[in-house]
Amino acid sequence: MNRSFTAKRISFILCIMVLLASAGLHAQQKPNIIVFLVDDMGWMDTSLPFGDKVMPLNKRFHTPNMERLATEGMKFTHAYAAPVCTPSRVSFMSGMNAAHHRVTNWTSVLKDEPSDFDHEKNPLKTPDWNINGMSPVKGISQTVYATPLAELLKEAGYFTIHVGKAHWAAAGTPGASPYNMGFLVNVAGNVAGMPQSYLSEDNYGNIPGKTTYYAVQNMTEYYGTHTFLTEALTREALKTLDHPIRTHQPFFLYMAHYAVHLPVNADDRFFDKYLKAGLDSAQAKYASMIEGMDKSLGDIMDFLKQKNIDQNTIILFMSDNGGNSISPAKGDKLHTGNLPLREGKGSVYEGGIREPMIVKWPGVVKPGSVTDQPVIIEDYFPSLLEMAGVKNPKVVQPVDGKTFVPILKGNSNVYPDRIFTWHYPNKWKKKDLHDIDYLSAIRQGDWKLVYRMLTKKLELYNLKTDIGEQHDLAAQYPDKVKKLAALLGEQFRSWGALMPSYKAGGQQVPWPDKL
Ligand code: CA
Repeated sequence: MNRSFTAKRISFILCIMVLLASAGLHAQQKPNIIVFLVDDMGWMDTSLPFGDKVMPLNKRFHTPNMERLATEGMKFTHAYAAPVCTPSRVSFMSGMNAAHHRVTNWTSVLKDEPSDFDHEKNPLKTPDWNINGMSPVKGISQTVYATPLAELLKEAGYFTIHVGKAHWAAAGTPGASPYNMGFLVNVAGNVAGMPQSYLSEDNYGNIPGKTTYYAVQNMTEYYGTHTFLTEALTREALKTLDHPIRTHQPFFLYMAHYAVHLPVNADDRFFDKYLKAGLDSAQAKYASMIEGMDKSLGDIMDFLKQKNIDQNTIILFMSDNGGNSISPAKGDKLHTGNLPLREGKGSVYEGGIREPMIVKWPGVVKPGSVTDQPVIIEDYFPSLLEMAGVKNPKVVQPVDGKTFVPILKGNSNVYPDRIFTWHYPNKWKKKDLHDIDYLSAIRQGDWKLVYRMLTKKLELYNLKTDIGEQHDLAAQYPDKVKKLAALLGEQFRSWGALMPSYKAGGQQVPWPDKL
């Protein structure tokens, strides 16, 4: 009897051990990953300072949930993207630099239509870039053929969800649909780079006789409900999480808000507050869109906590390019700026490429930490694969990005001599030439070289002492100019980067190290 009691006890203990082991396995389940990607949000469009002090623009905005995320995660003060939407989004999904994947400008909604048109004052001919964007299928004209990040995460067992703006490719190509890019669920993502309207009173643009390619799809149940698009997308995103949570499947939520891209519409939940604070109408509308976006972030964080999955969910906050300081909303004054950074969306100066970035990874990232190590949008590709435990992924493209997981783990000086490059051999608008057209840049350490292709001029800045890129030091440090120009030229040639050519004579604009 005593022996039987012991046997029972042993089997009971074994049972408990098995249960504990399976609970342990459950706890070690792959982390959920949420990428919260904002559109056109500048480095300064937040009350969370990414500079070394609070600056005037930080005081204009209220983003309490970004502040909260930063106290729970790591703030990146030198995070970069490409100067405009599609190049960044393709870099994210492919791991390639824009100079390499050759989708150097945003894609039009329709196939074979370049978004940058010619102009009589323009002495340059824009190169034959990949105007149809990214394709997960080989042989589609003027696309970069690449294995999408979401496809690899799906293969690794993730429930992949796309919510919001896609904008990787033109209509009629495979890359236009999130379903072809590795997502199991798609809410409102297609070829459009902006919503026709954020207002449910406008049915988000789906108005008989006025509907364009920019009218937001899949959102019919919110028509006329007085629900700002940002809020509607957030509710839909949370609904889609029910399934993976219930089935204990890890998920990848690509929460790619249309906000805060044009059109600048008032988010009524917050608009009056900013008017009363003394902002003009356009600025107040924009600030209300920023706060609406921030509320979405907070709602998602609250939801994760309610469902008790916040400790196993990584949240990455990012924007796809700098604040739009060149295109005021229709009939409005300019709604934002990037000071102290120079220029804005479309430019390779810091205002166009430096982004607000925060990463929360419970148990890995030290809460409230800050890093000034530079990272760039193509780094998301290898980083997310590492987070998901994907080793040796089968990828058709060469990956340029480097994992920032070692930075998240608290390592310093992870990539000491790394170079970062930007390439915009394009023209911003059809109307005329801008100061930000046809620029390339390279950064190494604190030094940044800007190549102006229109004038064949090289400018040198020290970002540590001159964040606003106001003091061109090229004449003072010719050796530094020579070294960076050589690095940029070599890198671009090895990638087969496209350069504009002269309309007169047809010659290619020289490489930065062959001037
Ligand atoms: Ca954008």
